[in-house]
Amino acid sequence: MKTLTDQIDALLPQTQCRRCGFEDCRAYADAIAKGETGIDRCPPGGLETLRALAALTGQQAERVDPSLGGYTPGNVAFVIEDDCIGCTKCIQACPVDAIVGAAKLMHTVVEALCTGCELCVPPCPVDCIRMQPARGVTEGILVPEAPTPRADFFRARYRSRRERLARIAQQRESRLHLPATTKQDLVEQRRAEIAAAVQRVRARRARRTDKHES
Ligand code: SF4
Ligand code: SF4
Ligand code: SF4
Repeated sequence: MKTLTDQIDALLPQTQCRRCGFEDCRAYADAIAKGETGIDRCPPGGLETLRALAALTGQQAERVDPSLGGYTPGNVAFVIEDDCIGCTKCIQACPVDAIVGAAKLMHTVVEALCTGCELCVPPCPVDCIRMQPARGVTEGILVPEAPTPRADFFRARYRSRRERLARIAQQRESRLHLPATTKQDLVEQRRAEIAAAVQRVRARRARRTDKHES
């Protein structure tokens, strides 16, 4: 059976922007369910969400609290790629894995995966992320059409990111508790794997060169 938190969470847009003052949409839903906060704290949901929450909870509210700022539906993040220094700070901040890139390489936003939460903007040290209207380039390819509501899609992406980060943290934690000799073995094993990979690439190149010369 669905809890009240589940029912409230189902009405929230899953932008995961934290403007409500909570860690994510689920935490806000939980606080409403416990009567700890009002229903007027979700700018991305706007009046539509406010009314749905009012109908479910019986709470009254005329408008979304204006002190929480506005939200422009359809805006997504855009990286000015020439200025990007590849620091990965935006990737770490993005709650739904909408940014692709690697350390010291240019980063870019997959616009259909972007909820427009703006959480990637402040951490960028060179101020090269802008919010602007989506161009619809990847929409329809990556985000499923109805009957899967958009919010469900983003909730699932958010959860899977959290689960992945928790797994990584656990692996790091268990590595910390390994005896020093085992840690050293792992380092040696990794070195050997890299050396073997380098050998394979060299052998492949040598074969290619022989072919061209014969
Ligand atoms: S969309 Fe943003 S403001 Fe609305 S509930 Fe989710 S995290 Fe909070
Ligand atoms: S790319 Fe930026 S704006 Fe878009 S979802 Fe990720 S953090 Fe939010
Ligand atoms: S935070 Fe800015 S500079 Fe760093 S990778 Fe992202 S877009 Fe590039």
